[in-house]
Amino acid sequence: MVQDGEHVSSLESQTVAAHSAYVEALAAWEKVVHMASCPICRPEGLTDKDHERRCDSAELEKERRRIAFRDLCDELGYVPEGHGIRLRTSACPTDSCVRGGSDDA
Ligand SMILES: [Zn+2]
Repeated sequence: MVQDGEHVSSLESQTVAAHSAYVEALAAWEKVVHMASCPICRPEGLTDKDHERRCDSAELEKERRRIAFRDLCDELGYVPEGHGIRLRTSACPTDSCVRGGSDDA
């Protein structure tokens, strides 16, 4: 078997891209879920049914990307690090509604 360095590095960049796509989908899903319980973030006129549908499709997308990322990691043999991968923080304008809002001092 021949080790193809270029193949490995392009696989690694694919994996990094798949990871950031997954992180994006994860953030989008968390945001959709958050909207259901947050009076500030919840869009006006959003029905429970609409919300449920949005949650379902966001979760499906998140799972799809997670599996794609995991498969690439399996193929690569390790989880790539140090490529600016980081989780985005919540986009909620009132941070307190995410954390429970208990520190009111
Ligand atoms: Zn909120």
